[in-house]
Amino acid sequence: MARVDVAVVGGGAMGATAAWRLARSGRSVVLCERFDPVHDRGSSHGATRIFRVAYRDPRYTDLALRALPLWRELEAATGEVLLEQVGQLDHGRSEAVAEVADSLAAAGRPHEVLTPEAAADRWPGMRFEGSVVMSPDGGRCWAERTVAAAWRAAGAAGAELRSRTPVVRMEVRGDRAVLHLPDGEVEADVAVVAAGAWVGDLLAGLVDLPALTVEDEQPSHFRPLDPSAEWPSFLHHRPPADGTDRPLGFDAYGLLTPGEGVKVGGHGTTAACEPDRRTGVDPGRAAALSAYVAEWFPGLDPRPVTTTSCLFTTTPDDHFVLDRRGPLVVCSPCSGHGFKFVPAVAREVERLVSGEAQPEAAWRLPG
Ligand SMILES: Cc1cc2nc3c(=O)[nH]c(=O)nc-3n(C[C@H](O)[C@H](O)[C@H](O)COP(=O)(O)OP(=O)(O)OC[C@H]3O[C@@H](n4cnc5c(N)ncnc54)[C@H](O)[C@@H]3O)c2cc1C
Repeated sequence: MARVDVAVVGGGAMGATAAWRLARSGRSVVLCERFDPVHDRGSSHGATRIFRVAYRDPRYTDLALRALPLWRELEAATGEVLLEQVGQLDHGRSEAVAEVADSLAAAGRPHEVLTPEAAADRWPGMRFEGSVVMSPDGGRCWAERTVAAAWRAAGAAGAELRSRTPVVRMEVRGDRAVLHLPDGEVEADVAVVAAGAWVGDLLAGLVDLPALTVEDEQPSHFRPLDPSAEWPSFLHHRPPADGTDRPLGFDAYGLLTPGEGVKVGGHGTTAACEPDRRTGVDPGRAAALSAYVAEWFPGLDPRPVTTTSCLFTTTPDDHFVLDRRGPLVVCSPCSGHGFKFVPAVAREVERLVSGEAQPEAAWRLPG
């Protein structure tokens, strides 16, 4: 049986970046990923994700601000541009947008409050309602590029990289974790479980997780009518469909992916699914999204150029799960808004592995 200091299960954005941090600190690390290093069956594929420090919940503003220098550190380690701060807008429900402005003010970050009319003059590709806040700290992360770079960096730091290696089962033996692989076992002082939508199956009987919902989210890219127009990233806060206000939620989101168009998602594009039994792009949801784009984006052709399917895994309160039970560190799920925090989550994982940190209260496992 192979023995390592740390075994990381799942090589998406979280697992690969955690493996890099753990290996560069001198630990022996194995990273097991059931698919290829960069694949399109989990949550980290596609070119871009929104980066924002603008959150209604100030804890996430703080975490995004802590992530910023860590993104720059990951860029320096990999020689890649991974984060571009091109700005980000929140608009819609005034009470939600006011909380965003409050979080930014409390953190001392620059932001501008505009009327919908002033915002539409400045960004004529969009329509706005309610209140508008512009945060120049926001922008986009390069998603697949980050995953590929983290795999390379983890390998260069000495991690053993095992793609196409599913962890069939996990076990706690004594005070160590055991991974059952198709070709043998790996014993580790600590196993970091960063299995995204599959975390529930893998940890069943080992760790009590909060109730998880896995959804198939299907955003599309749309062609800008004016190729020279500016597109900050954006969130649209509208009344929640079920009437429950979720402070980490929003109705629709989007951003420019240079070379692909403007990605728009969230408005009626999610549906519960089983991660290994997805049924492909749903024309009904794509049509609802096109109708939303036709209503709110005068600067986009509402016919989608491409539509993708990606897994959102959420806890009931949309917080993360980042905690430790014995030799198991749980680093999933990141509730549909985790990408911007990738290097900060990886640092929290390292602190949990070393026993240096208690998790934030909001991210603790039940019990
Ligand atoms: C459409 C969409 C839009 C999003 N937009 C944003 C955004 O704008 N901003 C933002 O911050 N966040 C956003 N997110 C969320 C963000 O992308 C995720 O939080 C993040 O990618 C999660 O990464 P992960 O590594 O936890 O999961 P994943 O990337 O899914 O990685 C988990 C990995 O574990 C592997 N695995 C699972 N089981 C096993 C096993 N038994 N053995 C071995 N390997 C296993 C899987 O194959 C997978 O590669 C979005 C998500 C989606 C789906």
